[in-house]
Amino acid sequence: MKNLFKVLFASLLLMSCSAETYSASLEATTPDPAASMADFCKKYPRPVYKNLKRISYASNWFELYQVADGVTAIYEPHQWQEVISYLIEGKSEALLFDTGNGIADIKKVVEHLTDKPIKILNSHTHYDHVGGNYAFDNVYGMDTAFTRDRQQGHANKDIAIEVSQEALCKPLPQGVSVQNHEGKPFKVKHFIKHGHIFDLGERQLEVIQVPGHTPDAIALIDRDAGLMWTGDTYYAGAIWLYAPETNLNQYSKSLQTLINEIPNFKALLPAHNTPWEQPEVLNRVQAGFKTVLNGKAVKKSQGEGMMEYTIPNEDNFSFLMRDEALPY
Ligand SMILES: [Zn+2]
Repeated sequence: MKNLFKVLFASLLLMSCSAETYSASLEATTPDPAASMADFCKKYPRPVYKNLKRISYASNWFELYQVADGVTAIYEPHQWQEVISYLIEGKSEALLFDTGNGIADIKKVVEHLTDKPIKILNSHTHYDHVGGNYAFDNVYGMDTAFTRDRQQGHANKDIAIEVSQEALCKPLPQGVSVQNHEGKPFKVKHFIKHGHIFDLGERQLEVIQVPGHTPDAIALIDRDAGLMWTGDTYYAGAIWLYAPETNLNQYSKSLQTLINEIPNFKALLPAHNTPWEQPEVLNRVQAGFKTVLNGKAVKKSQGEGMMEYTIPNEDNFSFLMRDEALPY
C-alpha cells in the first residue's frame, strides 16, 4: 500500500497548491503502476460481498448490493477509494447518502432503483463523497463553514490523480479522462444541524454530527432498523486522519458518541471498502486510537509526512496520521 498512500496523501495536500507544485510533486510520487495494481486490485473482490445480495445492473463502474430492506449500497470497487454511497428508501421518499467520486453517472443508478423523490445528504464533503452532488437539486448539507466552502468543487489539477492509471483496476467510463475529470461545484439547498430528522415515510433517519475526520462529518442513524451509517469516522481499512481539516481531539470525542449508540444497532454501514460491519468494532477502534495516543501502536512511515499506526492483533483497521507529535 505504500505507493498508494504516498500518492493519495500528496493528492490531498495538493488541494491548495499551485499547478507548478502539483506537477512536480505528482512526478515525484507517481508509483510504478504495476506495483500499485498488485497492492490495490488484488483485494477485489473483498470476501464479504459474497454474502450480500447483488442487484443486477449493467455497469462497468458501479456494483449494487441490497444490504437491508430499502437500503442499497452503491459501490465503486474498481477505483482505489472503493467508495460506497447508499440509497435509503422510505415509503414516500428516498435519501441518497453520498454521491461518490463523480466519475460515473450515479443519478442514472438512482433513477434505475427508485421513482421516489430524492434528497441528497453527504457523510462529509471530501471530494470522493460529493462527486455526483452537482446532478441533483435537492442537496442537504451541514451548516458549517467547511461545507459551504466545499460547494465550489475541485479543479482538475487537484483530483486528476483519482482517475490516473494507478488509481484504477478497470478502464474509465467513456468520456472521462485524466485531462477532464474534475469535482463539479454543487449547491446545498438546505443547511441542517445536528439532530435533524429526515422522515422518508415509515422510515426516519437522524443526523448525528461527529466532527473529527472533517468539521462536517456526520453519522446517520435509523433506530427502527438498527442501522448506523458511519461515513469515514469508521470503515474497515486505513482510516485517514491526516488532512489539514482533521481534528484528532474531536475525532476521539466523536468515537465516544458513536459508541454510546452501539446497544441500539445491529450493523454499521461505512463509506469505504465494506458496507456491513459489526457495531462492536467501534470499541476496538476507540481502544486502538488510545493505543496510538499512548505511544503503544506500531508506527510505520508512509513517506510524504504521513505515518501509519497499526494496533497489535488488529487487522480490521489502522490509522493514517500526520507525522508529527501526537496531541496528548
Ligand atoms: Zn472518504
